[in-house]
Amino acid sequence: PVLIDMKDVSKRFANGTVALRGMSLQIRNGEFVSFLGPSGCGKSTALKMISGLLSFSSGSITVNGHPAGESPHGSDIGYVFQEATLMPWASVFDNVFLPLKLQGLGKGEAKARVEEALSMVGLANFARSYPRELSGGMKMRVSIARAMVTKPKLLLMDEPFAALDEMTRSKLNDEVLGLWRSHGLTVIFVTHSVFESVYLSSRVVVMAARPGRVVHDIALPGADTRT
Ligand code: ADP
Ligand code: ADP
Repeated sequence: PVLIDMKDVSKRFANGTVALRGMSLQIRNGEFVSFLGPSGCGKSTALKMISGLLSFSSGSITVNGHPAGESPHGSDIGYVFQEATLMPWASVFDNVFLPLKLQGLGKGEAKARVEEALSMVGLANFARSYPRELSGGMKMRVSIARAMVTKPKLLLMDEPFAALDEMTRSKLNDEVLGLWRSHGLTVIFVTHSVFESVYLSSRVVVMAARPGRVVHDIALPGADTRT
C-alpha cells in the first residue's frame, strides 16, 4: 500500500526562491528510500513538507491517506535532524521522554518506553547522563531514540550523520538498517552521499535543483534482503 503520495508539489518561499517545481513521488509501506542530490536541490524542503513542518504552494501530499501534517496521530512520524538538537539542560532520559510528555504522559507511565527506546540504540545505561557527557555518535543515538519513542511508522532523517566522523557514521548506518528491519518502518533518508544512499536504501530518489524535482528513481533489487 502507498504510504506517501506527493502529486505535482511546488514550493516558493516568501523571498521568491523556488525550491520545488512539480515534484511527484509515491512511497510504499516498508520502503527504505534515500533522497540524493546536491545541496540546495530541495531534499529538506520535500522532507519537511511530508512531515507537515512546512506548507507547500501547490500540489498535494497525503501520508497514510491523510493530508500531510493532519495525521490523526502526530506520533506516526519520527524526525531526526542534521544536528542532534538535544536540550543540553535535560538528562538523556528527559530528552527522549519529551515527545511522550507532549502527548500528555507522565514520567512514570513513560519510563518503560523511554528505556526501551534507549536500549534500541544501545544507551540503556546512559539515561541519567547529560548530552555534554556524550560523544557525537551517542548524541545522535539519543536523537534517534527520541524519534522512535512514539513508535512511528515513518522515520524521516535529514542528513543525520553529516557532522560525524566516518567510523561513527558507518556504525550508525548499520544501526539504522537494523531498526528498519526489526520495526517494519518506512524510512526516508536524506543524504548527499552516493555511498550512503546505495548502502542503505532499496530505492534511491535522485533530485536536482533544476528542475527542482525527482530526476531519477532507482530501485536497488535485493538491497532490502541484504544481511
Ligand atoms: P537541500 O536539503 O537539498 O540542501 P533545501 O530544501 O534546504 O535543499 O533548499 C532548497 C532551496 O530552497 C535552496 O535554494 C534553499 O536556499 C532554499 N530555501 C530553503 N529554505 C528556505 C527558506 N526558509 N527561505 C528561502 N529559501 C529557502
Ligand atoms: P560512537 O562512535 O558511538 O560515538 P565514540 O568512539 O565517539 O563512539 O565514543 C566515545 C566514547 O564513548 C568511547 O570511548 C566509548 O567507550 C563510549 N561509548 C560510546 N557508546 C557507548 C555505549 N553504548 N556504551 C558505553 N560506552 C559507549
